Amino acid sequence: MSSDSKLGLPDAIQACLFDLDGVLTETAKVHSAAWKEMFDAFLKARAKETNEPFAPFDEIADYDAFVDGKPRADGTRSFLESRGIDLPEGVTDDATSARTVCGLGNAKNEIVLRRIREDGVEAFPGSLRYVKAVRTAGLRRAVVSSSANCAAVLEAAGIADLFEVRIDGVNVETDHLAGKPAPDTFLAGARALGVAPDYTAVFEDALSGVEAGRAGRFGYVVGVDRVGQTEALRAHGADVVVTDLAELLEQTLAPDETCEPAN
Ligand SMILES: [Mg+2]
Repeated sequence: MSSDSKLGLPDAIQACLFDLDGVLTETAKVHSAAWKEMFDAFLKARAKETNEPFAPFDEIADYDAFVDGKPRADGTRSFLESRGIDLPEGVTDDATSARTVCGLGNAKNEIVLRRIREDGVEAFPGSLRYVKAVRTAGLRRAVVSSSANCAAVLEAAGIADLFEVRIDGVNVETDHLAGKPAPDTFLAGARALGVAPDYTAVFEDALSGVEAGRAGRFGYVVGVDRVGQTEALRAHGADVVVTDLAELLEQTLAPDETCEPAN
């Protein structure tokens, strides 16, 4: 199989679905810091009440294993479960002080919005170059994110107009889509662009995200390694792993990295 040496993708690819946080923008660290601030406050208060030692949220291990890439409520539930903590679900507009899955999620979101407001958002320069090259090559482009703040982050980073379609945490809620690692949000993105999954590439930095790419049988899954988890990204479904999207611009695919077996 030949490949498009300009974009580092198989020739058949006609559309690209980009995750937002960690792929296009440097918001993954904003999110992991916000999860930590929220969970540590909760765990500290709980440790005091139960007289058990306080074991903080691990910004890397817990973030990667339980919350990265997932919708807010799923991430909250998943981490609590890992600690054997069972909280009521609550309702979506629970106060940030409520001890419910929704309340904790809302507290985390308030922290994210505060940090974005105070610190701003940067697009990765290599990602910006790559998406522009994809546009120039005439491929279709969508952002597919679990984040309910996707539109605000795209605007803050000044990259909203590079994409034709946005599927985000708001769609997850209103259209009842299953979050990553289910492929539903990526499939919705491909559908909105009018391109079949076989001809679509997925770009993801989260283990749950590359897993969603594999589950949706997309034509090509690009893992973006920002934290040194190349092997895990491959194991969860990435066809190729790069540390910066701009690497793909210089790269010609090795035969074992194409989506078809080498002949
Ligand atoms: Mg991500």
